[in-house]
Amino acid sequence: AKAHGRGTASLYHEGMQRELLERRDLEADMRVAFAGGQFALHYQPLHRLDTDAIAGFEALLRWHHPERGNVPPDVFIPIAEQSGLIVQIGEWVLREALAEAATWPKDLTVAVNVSAAQLRGGELLRQVVSALSTTGFDPRRLELEITETMLMEDSEAQLRLLHRLRALGVRIALDDFGTGYSSLNYLRAFPFDKIKIDRCFVTDLARNDESGAIVEAVLELAAKLNMQTIAEGVEDTEQLARLRERGCEQVQGYLFSRALPASDLPIEKISRKTS
Ligand code: C2E
Ligand code: CA
Ligand code: CA
Ligand code: CA
Repeated sequence: AKAHGRGTASLYHEGMQRELLERRDLEADMRVAFAGGQFALHYQPLHRLDTDAIAGFEALLRWHHPERGNVPPDVFIPIAEQSGLIVQIGEWVLREALAEAATWPKDLTVAVNVSAAQLRGGELLRQVVSALSTTGFDPRRLELEITETMLMEDSEAQLRLLHRLRALGVRIALDDFGTGYSSLNYLRAFPFDKIKIDRCFVTDLARNDESGAIVEAVLELAAKLNMQTIAEGVEDTEQLARLRERGCEQVQGYLFSRALPASDLPIEKISRKTS
């Protein structure tokens, strides 16, 4: 709506003020939420295209606020990152995801998203070691999803950290591939096990030749670098067909399933199929 008789500058200012207050509120609520058990993990299946079996699940954080309802992670995670609260939340996510995945059939992996703040000061290594030992989870079944922007600061330290995690048997996936500044450079410098092709390329796959060419090139590159591939955000059968014909190894998206609460996972079906 258009405001009459007020300058745009002051409107802009009021908008910023409101946003600031909103952030402060959310941050305060998040501390309460964390202490009060309002967070939960949901899990989205990762599908193998060779056998059509489920390879594992990605843990995705959910916040159910008593008054606001569900607050999307794209809204609260940046605030948790700026306030530093993400370090504690991230530690909880790791422990919770591993405890849950420890109840799954032994060939299923769990993918956990990691924040830049957890990488700082090597905190992540301590958190991973601790979560693995309290849950007894096999490190080879854990995939950590990181983005290249997380590697921009103090690359030397991050490189050492990733090598130490891999020495434990943990696998490292490069999330949102293709959306950063210099993805190719990061592929050369860091030891990734897996590349996750960003949803934006998948979305356009059926309508746009350029996206098709990019996806094809990424899949070829990954094969040459001995990295596994997964495409995220697969919503229709046409996208799926194009990924399949180009040799993508895994897919994830609403076409198969949204992220589900742990109690709703099709684990029973999987164990019957594999046993
Ligand atoms: P992400 O890691 O790229 O996760 C994929 C997002 O795409 C998820 O959104 C997922 O629900 C959504 N998605 C999956 N399939 C489809 C699809 O077919 N179509 C569309 N349109 N979307 C799909 P979500 O759960 O809202 O998470 C958003 C972002 O929040 C994640 O992006 C990740 O960056 C962050 N996040 C979520 N959980 C955690 C966590 O435990 N720790 C950290 N550090 N970040 C998290
Ligand atoms: Ca992810
Ligand atoms: Ca992603
Ligand atoms: Ca993303």
